Amino acid sequence: MPHALTLNAGSSSLKFGFFELGDLQGEPQSRILGLVERIGQGERAHIKAKGADGQVLLDQEYGRNHVPDHGTALARVVDFLREQRPDARLAAVGHRVVHGGPDYAEPTRLTPPVMDRLAQFEPLAPLHQPHNLSGARAALELFPDAIQVACFDTAFHRHHPWVNDTFAIPRKFYDQGVRRYGFHGLSYQYISETLEKTAPHLHSGRTIVAHLGNGASMCALMGGRSVASSMGFSALDGLPMGSRCGQLDPGVLLYMLMNEGMTPKEIEDVLYRQSGLLGLSGLSNDMRTLEAAGTEPAREAIDYFVFRIRRELGALAAALGGISTLVFCGGIGENSAHIREKVCEGMGWIGMELDTGRNLRGERIISTDLSRVRILVIPTNEEIVIARAARDSLAGAG
Ligand code: ADP
Repeated sequence: MPHALTLNAGSSSLKFGFFELGDLQGEPQSRILGLVERIGQGERAHIKAKGADGQVLLDQEYGRNHVPDHGTALARVVDFLREQRPDARLAAVGHRVVHGGPDYAEPTRLTPPVMDRLAQFEPLAPLHQPHNLSGARAALELFPDAIQVACFDTAFHRHHPWVNDTFAIPRKFYDQGVRRYGFHGLSYQYISETLEKTAPHLHSGRTIVAHLGNGASMCALMGGRSVASSMGFSALDGLPMGSRCGQLDPGVLLYMLMNEGMTPKEIEDVLYRQSGLLGLSGLSNDMRTLEAAGTEPAREAIDYFVFRIRRELGALAAALGGISTLVFCGGIGENSAHIREKVCEGMGWIGMELDTGRNLRGERIISTDLSRVRILVIPTNEEIVIARAARDSLAGAG
């Protein structure tokens, strides 16, 4: 029976999934899901993995410098998988690649020319793309006989309308690839496909998805397809995030450059790593920590986060010409009843009425029966989207 490995490399983490692909017709079956965290020089990396029914298979911290890069992290993952599943016949490896640029709107087999093209998008996603590609290079070496397929976070948005694809700057920049790409596409695809299967009447309508995790964005879906999203050229725009700023007047960048004399690297560090919830609270990028802290700056950071979500909700509803369904997903969207309640507070004017009991109990439908807008919580699953693409690629190569 063929198996697939899914890899999702962040700047200092590597998520992995091990799937059984059966006869390549049905749904890939997840057998192991895991995460290596704190990859990098001088860090004590940590690996954990769970089996299909949630049992912990591995939970281990490494010595300092034992996992200095993503290639080493992948080698550790492979050692663990070989030990767990000596029977494994790895036929496909699926990679989450953040940026597919203007070219790629579908999962794509990784060949040397495709890898070269994707490397050209590194400046467009400096914190993600180089790690995605180094993971892919390591996997190509480790599994030369497996099909390797890239799944792009930008792909789901590639067909959105031009007005949401461009900035109002001279057109030559658009032609160079300075566009509003949108991200979190694997998550939105999962939500769209889940709605199609479980609630087709909602899928065909106007849906806004709030993917609220450490990275956060929102997307407007018309009949299941992306028409607008809060993230743009880079994974910085839109909502404030754990440590990323979200929407920012470009004049602030000019001020930092010209008045503060900051270098581009210093500005990059501020916008990606020192802003968002962390920057406002001065405490943490982690929502759980902020909710527990109860200090004034922590509360203000949460207030700003919620305010921007509500503002984006109104904007996306206007882009859609209405809203019939709101979906929460991501670590915060799936787990924080408090944030969901604050987002939905006083939204009766748009037809949203939250059922506080259902919300607190974490049910799938958290709107009242009379609410015109259906409000749902759907745990997202980017790994299964990658595994399906790996399966389809393998079936196609048949
Ligand atoms: P990533 O973008 O790294 O995949 P996740 O989707 O895992 O992030 O989300 C991480 C965020 O979810 C963190 O801010 C974390 O505090 C938050 N979170 C997880 N569980 C809860 C919870 N029970 N209550 C509030 N926030 C939570």
